[in-house]
Amino acid sequence: MEKTVHIAVVPGVGYSHLVPILQFSKRLVQLHPDFHVTCFIPTLGSPSNATKSILQTLPSNINHTFLPPVNPNDLPQGTTMESQMFLTLNNSLPYLHDALKSLAIESPLVALVVDSFAVEVLNIGKELNMLSYVYFPAAATTLAWSIYLPKLDEETSCEYRDIPEPIKIPGCVPIHGRDLLSVAQDRSSQVYKHFLPLFKLLSFADGVFVNSFLELEMGPISAMKEEGSDNPPVYPVGPIIQTETSSGDDANGLECLAWLDKQQPCSVLYVSFGSGGTLSHEQIVELALGLELSNKKFSWVLRAPSSSSSSAGYLSAENDIDTLQFLPSGSGFLERTKEKGFVITSWAPQIQILSHNSIGGFLTHCGWNSTLESVLHGVPLITWPLFAEQKMNAVLLSEGLKVGLRPRVNENGIVEREEVVKVIKRLMEGEEGEKLRNNMKELKEAASNAIKEDGSSTKTISQIALKWRNLV
Ligand code: UDP
Repeated sequence: MEKTVHIAVVPGVGYSHLVPILQFSKRLVQLHPDFHVTCFIPTLGSPSNATKSILQTLPSNINHTFLPPVNPNDLPQGTTMESQMFLTLNNSLPYLHDALKSLAIESPLVALVVDSFAVEVLNIGKELNMLSYVYFPAAATTLAWSIYLPKLDEETSCEYRDIPEPIKIPGCVPIHGRDLLSVAQDRSSQVYKHFLPLFKLLSFADGVFVNSFLELEMGPISAMKEEGSDNPPVYPVGPIIQTETSSGDDANGLECLAWLDKQQPCSVLYVSFGSGGTLSHEQIVELALGLELSNKKFSWVLRAPSSSSSSAGYLSAENDIDTLQFLPSGSGFLERTKEKGFVITSWAPQIQILSHNSIGGFLTHCGWNSTLESVLHGVPLITWPLFAEQKMNAVLLSEGLKVGLRPRVNENGIVEREEVVKVIKRLMEGEEGEKLRNNMKELKEAASNAIKEDGSSTKTISQIALKWRNLV
């Protein structure tokens, strides 16, 4: 009888760092049913509904355990979202250590896989003599940069954003300092000091699985694999995405899908800033008026405004605010656009939306999951990055892969309504949009090939599975 190959996984804090590693786990056990995964989840406050519903969809060979939740009131007030994630994980480490140790006694663990926002856990893995890997849910470009950052830190004396030329690292599209990860925007900040040693830890992993594929990011993937480099072994295993949004039966979401059914093919722009991206009130108004003036159909996931581009709801349970009140209602926006647009105020069934044939473009904050979902459905982009590594993704998508257009931001950090109109028309009409669409079609093809039975990413997973199986 075949023996079970048992591995443990540890996501980072927050829905967006849970979903990717669960998807990876699902892919692993789907390809190799003799594997069993135990997932230990660190949480801040109570888990969101989205988190609870995704956990209900897990197959029987993946089980999960919540680590004791960290109380938001126990964290220093006014810290950034990244620091909250970091501190939550840190507070959870002693529990995780004990849980892994007892599990390993019960049923020998072949390997530990941790999210890129949980790399401190690698130390526990090493202590317990487990092969320890990182699942990197972002682009290979971001991975290459994360590994390179400690070196850049040693070589640079100013803020990266003040370096006049775009910075070049092997295999990557040159990126301007101001577009690097948001944690690297202020080198004197606490969050940068927290993260720099974590980037160094990446190199100590026994391997890094990256949610990308050769054909999408040949440059950075090949450069990281080059012989003689100090990089850990890099395994491109993507695109790994959800096949369906878990709360896709929400009434508002279903109404949106019914509305899309009535639209012409490729005629609707889908607008969403991910699970936690927020705009200022001024920006919401400019975007609303730009959408209206463009005269194109749109479907917009609207969130309450915030002065920070990532809202606290990103990490814990969501709150119920009537977001429609933030639209330019004095001028009757909803009434005037009722034939043209659909505003979604709930959790949108994004996968179902992106796979709908009426969708012709996606105005996105360039979160990597949204990016891969758009690639797999062949939808070209308007790249509107907000925080984290999203600006790097925007550069990759618009300048490297040429599947997106990036709107101009004015000196006050606002994309004005006229710019919104311009960029929507460039994407949804004429030759330029057509070119982007064709480039995206090619990527779509390559993406589906990578995950076929004999595709590059499937083979990579099978090679590592074989290695693990041989250890049992
Ligand atoms: N998502 C969704 N409905 C929403 C908002 C987001 O289904 O209303 C999903 C989206 O499909 C993606 C994930 O949430 O899988 C967002 O991840 P991404 O990496 O794009 O951005 P983040 O939320 O991490 O900023």
